[in-house]
Amino acid sequence: MLWLRKARQVASVKYDFVICGGGSAGCVLANRLSADKSKNVLLLEAGPSDKFFSNRLGKLISWKIHMPAALQYNLQDDKLNWYYETVPQKHANNRSFYWPRGRVLGATGSSSLNAMVYVRGHGKDQDRWAQEIGDEQWNYDHVLPYFIRAQNFHGAIDGDTYKGTNGFLHVTDGEFNTPLYEAFVQAGIQAGYPKTEDVNGYQQEGFGKLPMTVYKNDGSRANTSSCYLDPARHRENLKILPNTLAEKVIFNGTTATGIDISSFKAQTDTVRIEAKEIILCGGSINSPQMLQLSGIGNYEELKKHEIQPIVHLPGVGENLQDHLEIPVSNKTLSGLSLKKYQMPPLMQLIGAEWFLRGTGVCATNHFHAGAFIRSKAAEDLDHPDIQLHFVPSQYLDHGRGEIEQEAFQAHVGTLRAKSTGHVKIRSRNPRDHPEIDPKYLSNPDDLPDLVTCLKLTREIFAQAAFDELRLEELIPGKELITDREMADWVKSIIETVYHPSSTCKMGREEDPMTVVDSKCRVLGTEGLRVVDASIMPSIASGNLNAPTIAIAEKAADIILGKDPLILPNSQSCGPIFQIGDCFPETSVGGEHAFPCMANSDYGDTVTFTKRRCSSDGHWSDLNDVNEPYFFDCTQGWLNQTETNYDYYASSESSEYDDSMSNSTFEDVIPDEMPTNNYMSITISLAIVSFLFSLVSFILMAVLIRKCTRIYIHMNLLAAIMLRHLTFIVFILYKVIQWRIKVEPKLEDIQKSLIELSQNQYIGWDSYLQPLESYELNDLTSVEQSTCSSLAQFEVCKCQLQCLLYPVIQKNLPGYAASEAASLDSKI
Ligand SMILES: Cc1cc2nc3c(=O)[nH]c(=O)nc-3n(C[C@H](O)[C@H](O)[C@H](O)COP(=O)(O)OP(=O)(O)OC[C@H]3O[C@@H](n4cnc5c(N)ncnc54)[C@H](O)[C@@H]3O)c2cc1C
Repeated sequence: MLWLRKARQVASVKYDFVICGGGSAGCVLANRLSADKSKNVLLLEAGPSDKFFSNRLGKLISWKIHMPAALQYNLQDDKLNWYYETVPQKHANNRSFYWPRGRVLGATGSSSLNAMVYVRGHGKDQDRWAQEIGDEQWNYDHVLPYFIRAQNFHGAIDGDTYKGTNGFLHVTDGEFNTPLYEAFVQAGIQAGYPKTEDVNGYQQEGFGKLPMTVYKNDGSRANTSSCYLDPARHRENLKILPNTLAEKVIFNGTTATGIDISSFKAQTDTVRIEAKEIILCGGSINSPQMLQLSGIGNYEELKKHEIQPIVHLPGVGENLQDHLEIPVSNKTLSGLSLKKYQMPPLMQLIGAEWFLRGTGVCATNHFHAGAFIRSKAAEDLDHPDIQLHFVPSQYLDHGRGEIEQEAFQAHVGTLRAKSTGHVKIRSRNPRDHPEIDPKYLSNPDDLPDLVTCLKLTREIFAQAAFDELRLEELIPGKELITDREMADWVKSIIETVYHPSSTCKMGREEDPMTVVDSKCRVLGTEGLRVVDASIMPSIASGNLNAPTIAIAEKAADIILGKDPLILPNSQSCGPIFQIGDCFPETSVGGEHAFPCMANSDYGDTVTFTKRRCSSDGHWSDLNDVNEPYFFDCTQGWLNQTETNYDYYASSESSEYDDSMSNSTFEDVIPDEMPTNNYMSITISLAIVSFLFSLVSFILMAVLIRKCTRIYIHMNLLAAIMLRHLTFIVFILYKVIQWRIKVEPKLEDIQKSLIELSQNQYIGWDSYLQPLESYELNDLTSVEQSTCSSLAQFEVCKCQLQCLLYPVIQKNLPGYAASEAASLDSKI
């Protein structure tokens, strides 16, 4: 069997790190850990890959994952989904709750199945975590740099120091393309709440935009597989084994020495992988399950299943926390909601637009606006405890419900419910779903808080901003008036926001519920860590994908023994320096001040603006008071009037190496770079194969409906044959790609880069054009090899990404001219 052969081959070496679970956290770790070439890394994932191969065509074929608006499709079956269910919930009318969790690279709910809302939560979450853990390394100041390192924000940042622009995780703001979004924000303001410019910035509280993890250039889902794995797949020290179930960790005493795996699809012999360190990234359900199956958990529970105990950790699987929400919707005027797109012919047209150009209604999740508010004005409530997601449509029963009305809807729920539950194995069989009991509403405070959510949302929808747009209330309906009626309704309608967390919580060693220490190590063991949403000490106040990714980013530095990223000062609003940092905190004329980095891409011309952090944590821009300050790392503050300053900096030291500014890339470009000029052949083949796929798909869809049985069989056969032909064409494509080697066009690249390094701004097209003929995969390796050579300048953190990604993007259909223009100005 193919899987077995591959697994045995993979098992022939001992790994430095085996990562179990290729979800939000797992893909981040796979990238960051394998960036250290001396480490051998293996990534195991129970599900399949999220695409056939890592480019746009691969995404088109797996469109159900990569088309943002198709997010509900994968929730409807168990193909890419663990399809969990909770036990009946006593306090919620004995309902069992459906809990979809992704089972695919880039993963769970996570980034391949989730709703793509990019929300970091509140800074006070991390400050609370630091207290719960007893380690200030997990407070906001120490986690914020990792949110920023992870992020690649597509859009103007205007000196905003909370946003990252060099990271792997692509984030975009959705457009307010119907008056309903703006009405929602205005209604919030009319109801007395603030507006916020950025829910992930200085002020979470208020009404504003909800960004999304979507690539702006091709309108596809930015899951962690595309963002983190694709740039690392070619590394020789990284192996990825999909369709693989990590069954249990193997110990020598209390030291983890390996892991037993089997094929997820078919029961096979187990294969043992040896490793110096195992990192569980299975998410909040599967990580505690894997620990329990491995003998780590509550001894009493393990005994029931005759599992050999290794370490008694009663907290494993406990402390389960989740977010609940209710839908509130009103009918609206015809044409304002998304309903028209959910019916032919517009449905087909918007689908075609996405396939051809990567734009339009299918290129977004439609949760473009949202809000964070407080349920009451109580002293002990110092940050929002309610979140609203607004959508100009209805989203019912996990996307399975029929949309019959033109409507707008808010999904509103509490952020720090008090009820906690558990995850427990039901048997020794790793394939059996564990018992999931979130104990929803078991704490008596939780139900009234959800009733408050309903009342506040009704109040918001009743504001004048909606007067021209609002018709009758559809959900729950005006007949619901008393608190009792509302509470009964809440119990019948609440659903998970898909945010299980904290089942292997990080904490103080003296806390009996702690599972991992502040370095993510499982207590009482050696060589075993957990890194995913399950280690949050308590649930974050927002969606969980971004905080999980930040946790994994930070954990990667911890595991590799790197110095943690730090803010240049301890103020909550300190500017964040990323790659190329060389700005020590400084003081000018007695003021507490530092430069604010506007952009940090290598070779960029950068403007630094001086700002001041006031005692209440706000930034004030000093530009209007003085001339802008420009900071030179060698000389301290300069009060210059030029607006641009050539920037070369070190990521390691705060010393400015003067020689750098005179250097060109000539010396550091590697002698050999793989390139080929057969782009057009491979693209043509790819297009042909895509067309085959499309024809086969249409045949299946149309003929199954229209024909008699015999024709159905014949046509199904034809469709299947076409499908097979598609695969053959793909294989041909790969073979050609592999066989054809041409002379490197090194001079072109060198010339372009030298021009760039000399800061002769000659326009985006002219210096990037020579690169455009290169094969996409090869560009990634150029980036890698160029970066490693640049390391001698201590500036290498893939600054060339900025240079090469636009090229890759431009090679793809749907690359908008406006995008090129914005990149032009950026570079
Ligand atoms: C439907 C849905 C919508 C969501 N919407 C949002 C949203 O809009 N915004 C947001 O921020 N968050 C959202 N979330 C939540 C967010 O996506 C998750 O909290 C986050 O992805 C958790 O990341 P993780 O790394 O802990 O786990 P996951 O991303 O779930 O990764 C775990 C991975 O491990 C694999 N795995 C598990 N067990 C094994 C095993 N034994 N062997 C091998 N592999 C294994 C799984 O298949 C999976 O791929 C949503 C979640 C869901 C389900």
